[in-house]
Amino acid sequence: MSVPTKHEVKFCSNCASALEWLSMDEDGGAKSRLRCVACGYTHWNNPTPVLAAVIECADRDGKVLLARNAAWTHRMFALITGFMEAGESPETGIRREVMEETALEVDALRLIGVYEFERMNQVIIAYHATARGEVQLSPELAEYKLFDPADIICWPAGTGYALADWLRGRGHEPKFMEFRRRP
Ligand SMILES: [Zn+2]
Repeated sequence: MSVPTKHEVKFCSNCASALEWLSMDEDGGAKSRLRCVACGYTHWNNPTPVLAAVIECADRDGKVLLARNAAWTHRMFALITGFMEAGESPETGIRREVMEETALEVDALRLIGVYEFERMNQVIIAYHATARGEVQLSPELAEYKLFDPADIICWPAGTGYALADWLRGRGHEPKFMEFRRRP
């Protein structure tokens, strides 16, 4: 599963009344949040954990697999990502995502780091995944490419910083592409 764009919640998930922006005293002082007047429910809007993998193909000379999402109009290749699901650990989740999206089997996982992606209200948990097998992309991915680590160009946002940190750990000073943030 790749990650859809965020939307604003309108209704209480407990009683289905309309939520309102209301200020209330919390531990950190007065805070305005979407709250339900009918039942007292607060929509905390905590960031969602997103799992990401730098996939190193153990059976393809250590090349790194990056993939292009079918929904993207620009020709950019990025990490495999997906939402963490209830009842799984981050490690179980990223193994599942790699299998679902590429059909590759993960041999080993190592945490690269945890990264903010505030624009999407997400927190990215990024792994280095050593994987092997025949690549079969899910319909969500249009194409993939195998890169020599030295040739990878990073993007200055979210998972791009995870990739850059992984490259640094491998002794490659990361190169970044020009990137325009949406206004
Ligand atoms: Zn309610």
